[in-house]
This record gives sequence, C-alpha cells and structure tokens, in this order.
Amino acid sequence: MRTPYGQECPYYYADYHRGRNEELCRLVEASPASEPWIPDVCKDCPVPAIARANACEHMTLQARVVKGFLGFGRKIVVEAYCAKAQRNVSEPQIGCGQCHGDAKIADLFNE
Ligand code: SF4
Repeated sequence: MRTPYGQECPYYYADYHRGRNEELCRLVEASPASEPWIPDVCKDCPVPAIARANACEHMTLQARVVKGFLGFGRKIVVEAYCAKAQRNVSEPQIGCGQCHGDAKIADLFNE
C-alpha cells in the first residue's frame, strides 16, 4: 500500500471506507518500545527503499519512532537482523552478504 508520501510500503495500512479514518504502520506496531507512530515519519523512512532493494527471506526489520532533538519532531529508526547469519545487518539495502557468498560457492561447484 502507498504511504501518504507515495512510496509503496509493505507495512503501511490505511482504511478510509465507510467513515473509517485508520492509518497505521504494522512494523512500528510490533515494537512496544516505540513512541506513537504518526504518518509524518513515513516521509523519511528508509523501509520502502529497503523493501525494494532487498527481498531476502532471512532478513527481518524492526522499527521504532523516536523523538527528535530536544523532543521536537519524530523520526523512525530501523534495525535489520539476518536469521541465517544470526547477526545484525548494518546495510539492509545490501544485506549481510552471506547468501551472496553461498551463491558464489554454489556457482563454483556447478561450473
Ligand atoms: S513508517 Fe516506514 S515502515 Fe512504517 S508505514 Fe511508514 S514507510 Fe512504512
């Protein structure tokens, strides 16, 4: 579903049917330590770009909303984890690199 800022995001949900006015982020909803989500944080959120660049089935994302400097504004903080490599992924758009390494080894044996 498209966020109010036009990016396709697998976690954004909106329902305006029959008088409803519901918007939510399913990713932030799963993070109890988050400040309340507001649609404004979608504007600079990296998750839509991560989802476009990396569809690795082993990588999971966590996101939480944090207050900005001196409590003004809010922004989203995203962390990625690879269940296969069992480590945090510092560049989620690229991935942890383990699967790419596995694919290269498999290619060597298939040649
Ligand atoms: S905050 Fe990020 S992950 Fe959540 S709905 Fe908006 S763009 Fe998607």
